[in-house]
Amino acid sequence: MIIMKFGGSSVKDVAALERVVGIIGSRCHEDPVVVVSAMGDSTDRLTKILDLLERGQNAQARATAKRLSSDHASIARKILPEGEILSELLKTIQSHFSRMDNLIEGMACLGEVSPRSRDAVLSFGEIASSSMLAAYCRSVNIPAEAIDPTKLILTDARFTGATPDPAGTKKRCAQFLSPVVARMAIPVVGGFVGADEHGVTTTLGRGGSDLTASILAGAMNASALEYWKDVDGILDADPRIVPQAKPVQRITFREAAELATLGAKILHPASIQPAVLANVPVRVLNFNEPLANGTTITSAAEPDHDFPDRSSPAVSSITYKRSQAMINIYSTRMLGTSGFLRRVFEVFDRLKISVDHIATSEVNVTVTVGRTDALEALRRELAEIATVSVDDNVGVVSLVGERLPATPGVAARIFRALTGINVSLITYGGSGVNLSVVVGNDNVDTAVRKLHKELFETSEDGDHDDV
Ligand code: ASP
Ligand code: MG
Repeated sequence: MIIMKFGGSSVKDVAALERVVGIIGSRCHEDPVVVVSAMGDSTDRLTKILDLLERGQNAQARATAKRLSSDHASIARKILPEGEILSELLKTIQSHFSRMDNLIEGMACLGEVSPRSRDAVLSFGEIASSSMLAAYCRSVNIPAEAIDPTKLILTDARFTGATPDPAGTKKRCAQFLSPVVARMAIPVVGGFVGADEHGVTTTLGRGGSDLTASILAGAMNASALEYWKDVDGILDADPRIVPQAKPVQRITFREAAELATLGAKILHPASIQPAVLANVPVRVLNFNEPLANGTTITSAAEPDHDFPDRSSPAVSSITYKRSQAMINIYSTRMLGTSGFLRRVFEVFDRLKISVDHIATSEVNVTVTVGRTDALEALRRELAEIATVSVDDNVGVVSLVGERLPATPGVAARIFRALTGINVSLITYGGSGVNLSVVVGNDNVDTAVRKLHKELFETSEDGDHDDV
């Protein structure tokens, strides 16, 4: 059994839906469970309805709801020919949206939008998209059934950002999902939505469908979890900077987590963690190119023979963050004393500024942070205990790879590539998964390009690969 997750853009219109149905059809023999997001920008539109209601703009809220419902109906008419499946789907969509209209009237009447009501309304995007996708599948003889996610995903009652309970979800899946799979039907589950122990609808926070898929993968002990995105997988660099960037074949969860926090925004590590913990391999695939390999994320580094094409690369991917600030904290009071670092970091804690990279020497601590409004306050407070300088025009370029510490000579290649670029800070974490350099904001692109060229387009002895 595999889990296949399709995001909002992969079901945003007729052409996209058609592609998705083709992909599901090609995977039927693997007993897929399909998880789907709301179509296109539906969740944004539902959010808008709620914001309008909050401001008392009830007529506009009603009109927006009406458009959303008619857009769904019109796509249904385009994907399905006249007949029983279409009329059933239109009835289902109408009943979903008329339940939503009732909720909207309730909120308009009360003049109040509680987090609980918010979730009730937000859930309609996924409830509608799963009904549409299941009906479309049935129309081409794929035996799909829309399954209500509130029956499967047990969460706490923190509305608009609920946390799933893996053990409770596993029990519900055994009860409501496994029997569907056992009779060879293909469940289509709306992502993002769950319910608390009393059955009240919750949502998992924006982008939460990825988490739904991962929780289900763990609960069902899936043999694979596939995220179908509109990208080729996780690339070895940002293609906007390096046009010849290629998908990384395999990446470990630690590397993927580092990449996500260091700038690359493909999958949130917290979303995929439940699947990784359950040892389910996670694949990122491109729904525009279903036959391409994509990227596989595994819990641990695989032995060398599993890297047939590119044997054990030291660096899996290069990422970057622009517009960061570097803060240099200098004090001779650090010399031979203890407690100075505590005082420095208390200031960061008080101002709720999270530190990304740190380098220290005997009398100096340098950190980087995302640019924040609190920089001036930070400078002022730190100035009470040290001499402080702030450069708020830097970028951080990071090389991520589990094998960095085990690859002799790689540091030399990295610094050779950076020749001519002023590097103001280097961090190479104890975890050994990333090596980051701070450069001027204007040098970020050049640094990424040069590093990519050295590490991915050139063989170790300096010859340029023919790519
Ligand atoms: N539809 C929700 C959102 O747009 C959840 C998701 O797409 O993952 O945030
Ligand atoms: Mg979405």
